Amino acid sequence: MTQAGKTKILIVEDEHAQMELLVYNFQSDGYEVFSAMDGEEGKLLAEENRLDLIVLDWMLPKLSGIELCRQLKRGANTKEIPIVMLTARGEENDKVRGLDTGADDYMVKPYSVAELLARARALIRRAGGINADRIQTHGDIVLDGEQHKVLRNDIPVKLGPTEYRLLSIFISRPGRVWSREQLLERVWEDNLEIDLRTVDVHVGRLRKALKQVGKEDPIRTVRSAGYSLD
Ligand code: CA
Repeated sequence: MTQAGKTKILIVEDEHAQMELLVYNFQSDGYEVFSAMDGEEGKLLAEENRLDLIVLDWMLPKLSGIELCRQLKRGANTKEIPIVMLTARGEENDKVRGLDTGADDYMVKPYSVAELLARARALIRRAGGINADRIQTHGDIVLDGEQHKVLRNDIPVKLGPTEYRLLSIFISRPGRVWSREQLLERVWEDNLEIDLRTVDVHVGRLRKALKQVGKEDPIRTVRSAGYSLD
């Protein structure tokens, strides 16, 4: 069961004590935490959930951390998820290889959990995750992720949670054309019973709400392709 609005992270670590420590600390910091004890399980969880960050141990059973990192960075649905690798002391060459495989950051064991949390926050902010608590603007539209508010021309725009989530996706990549399938996957996540036309209905509502406080329609319909914020 997913909790809307929470930033989602996955921890892949085969040492129980380390895992407990990390799960406890990330949960206390407000994250929704998924955990896997080996590389294969980690891969499945990464593909099934829309994650904002992965904390990945280097040495893992079944599929090693380095190989998992490589595979995730090649996967269409997973390549944009920031990854922090955890390595053992003295694996200097490995550390370099870790970054070569596409890892975004690494920490050497034993590490400070407080520092890991700080780096995790920075990576998530940098990646512009849709759950990131930051302010994004596009033209006269302002989306304040921290306060969960939207303004257009300095006037508050009233949006339902689905329209808010749609806008946060559009504003994260202005100009990008999103197919209805991509929007469906990102907004409704694993609810596969939702009809594609539902996407049109909610985009329509978002449009209407934005047009009430501004002249131009900022959302472009791209025939047989999808929608884009222009
Ligand atoms: Ca390990």
